[in-house]
Amino acid sequence: MTATNEPSFRESVDLMFNRAASLMDLPPGLEEKIRVCNATYTVRFGVRLRGDIHTFTGYRSVHSEHMEPVKGGIRYATAVNQDEVEALAALMTYKCALVETPFGGSKGGLCIDPRKYEEHELEQITRRFAYELAKRDLINPSQNVPAPDMGTGEREMAWMADQYARMNTTDINSRACVTGKPLNAGGIAGRVEATGRGIQYALREFFRHPEDMQKAGLSGKLDGKRVIVQGLGNVGYHAAKFLSEEDGSKIVGIIEWDGALYNPDGIDVESVRQWIVKHGGVSGYPDATHSAEGGAVLEEDCDILVPAALEGVINLSNADRIKAPLIIEAANGPVTAGADEILRKKGTVIIPDMYANAGGVTVSYFEWVKNLSHIRFGRMQRRQEEARHELIVSELERLDRYLGDAWSMSPDFKAKYLRGADELELVRSGLDDTMRIAYQSMREVWHSRDDVEDLRTAAYIVAIDRVSKSYRAKGL
Ligand code: GLU
Repeated sequence: MTATNEPSFRESVDLMFNRAASLMDLPPGLEEKIRVCNATYTVRFGVRLRGDIHTFTGYRSVHSEHMEPVKGGIRYATAVNQDEVEALAALMTYKCALVETPFGGSKGGLCIDPRKYEEHELEQITRRFAYELAKRDLINPSQNVPAPDMGTGEREMAWMADQYARMNTTDINSRACVTGKPLNAGGIAGRVEATGRGIQYALREFFRHPEDMQKAGLSGKLDGKRVIVQGLGNVGYHAAKFLSEEDGSKIVGIIEWDGALYNPDGIDVESVRQWIVKHGGVSGYPDATHSAEGGAVLEEDCDILVPAALEGVINLSNADRIKAPLIIEAANGPVTAGADEILRKKGTVIIPDMYANAGGVTVSYFEWVKNLSHIRFGRMQRRQEEARHELIVSELERLDRYLGDAWSMSPDFKAKYLRGADELELVRSGLDDTMRIAYQSMREVWHSRDDVEDLRTAAYIVAIDRVSKSYRAKGL
């Protein structure tokens, strides 16, 4: 996807790391220790399918074990390779540090086109891959906890968790060995939508700071902002849906593998999603203009560009034509180091991947804690909270009667106030808080230092500083 004279994905991440590290005062050697990937395990295994033995190649890379378990998704795609998995593992280290989830960074991948296999075949392949990883503690509740990524979801996580449990029959915490599981297999409410929800919370937080908006030449609120989304997969779909349905943003462009849709009056995200489910792509969708050359829509006029597909889509070949003043990286690594420099010089504000898409790992953290505590969030408090609220409501009702026509409670106050928070509400509140605090820690560095021009460098500085403190505490 990237132009040939560009560095690889991993080199691109290293370049961005170096840029930030050069502005820090790290002890000699520690910078190198943090940057390098600790280990990458490659496995090749055979599975008998349709009468033949098929050989698959998979990876699990551990970038940093300054905190354990290490955390990060497992991707199923034909383009998976060691360089990509290592770049993604490094991003996980910085991401976890930035949003303060107590994990090191890891990532996995399997070279496979999942669409070519039946469900029972995918189960066989996934279980075998999970077996290979689990027997080396590369799936383990206290060592290494995978999660979904591109091409995987709740179903694969349930198979992996079950495979681990079969191999570790006496491990009472076995459910905590992977996150992103379905609710009935130890998952948590709100995990599927979490990354998209995180994008929404990140943008809401950005739009709370007029100074930051000004840097992008934007003002006002999310309401009415024109958004182009690349990739209507789990992350892009939820982000676009929430932004349009809850914040009043207008989705003017949607880019998919078979071209792009554009409509300056706005596109209905839910109906495009249904169209894709039915027809496999966006071609033929009636209520927008379709262009076969999808990439060109990245360059259309809009307020916010949301690349939510692959790495390297904004690169040396198109960066100078990108018009959006604000880019939020829903995917990992969508902007190459070269493109980043061009955009920075143009004054484009980029909300970087390690922050923007951290909603997934944040809710994964809540799921892991839920699994280790063996209890659903809110189970102990909810009714007690309602009972205490009942006390206030009955006092207010007494006042209401006493004051007659002079005052009365708002019609829906009682029902709203009485209801104690369920797991989904608690998850959303924890995610919102995490996204706000992490943004504030980045912007503080961005605004307080003259040598920090952009949010990405600020994010790296915050993350590297935390990782370095953790290594130093270990005596390094
Ligand atoms: N795959 C997601 C990511 O890149 C989620 C990782 C996780 O939940 O551990 O952040």
